[in-house]
Amino acid sequence: MLDAHFAHLAEHHPCVLPGEPLQPGLNVCLSFDDGYYDFHRTVFPLLEKHHLRALLAIPPGLILDQTSMHPFARLRLPNQSPNPHEISSGLCTWDELRELAASGRVAFAAHGMTHARLDEPQADLAREICDPGLLLSVKLMIEVESFVFPFGRHDPRSLKTAQTHYRHVFRIGQALNSGWQAPVLYRVSGDNMETPAALLAPARLRRYRARAWWNRLRRR
Ligand SMILES: [Zn+2]
Repeated sequence: MLDAHFAHLAEHHPCVLPGEPLQPGLNVCLSFDDGYYDFHRTVFPLLEKHHLRALLAIPPGLILDQTSMHPFARLRLPNQSPNPHEISSGLCTWDELRELAASGRVAFAAHGMTHARLDEPQADLAREICDPGLLLSVKLMIEVESFVFPFGRHDPRSLKTAQTHYRHVFRIGQALNSGWQAPVLYRVSGDNMETPAALLAPARLRRYRARAWWNRLRRR
């Protein structure tokens, strides 16, 4: 389904990375969260196949230098595990992330340091918002200008901190954006696509536009 979806996007939509000039028509910015190993193994080859690029949001505090675990075992690890090493082994390693960065096909966003929720009063915003962008830029030798809220959750305090440190701040929101200048950029979820074109079908786009209007009205 992802292969067919990418083929549909490549044929019908300009695909851009954050901050790039927009072209006529509906521009799409692909984003993937967390940096699971399957991004390196499955998604990245499909991006190459369709000449697409994507934004990958990483919680760098969870990333390992290397792992000796077998690739199939890494793919089978549960997303939620009480064992931090299991969580980290299921994510791309620094070596793999460097490979993605060197391809020129993947831009990176900070996604918290440890993927903690940032809408809670005890959240350590310096560690979870300011530091991960710095760590990613040092480890991958790139500029990190985007921040994606873990779980899509923020409160006014964490939103302000993210906006101070990053040019582009993303949440979920299930809505369209009218440009890069919005204080918080919305994303639509591509989970469980029914058909390759369903995500951007006209009826769906009308819903995303209405949702953008509703989100702005209630300042979300
Ligand atoms: Zn996440």
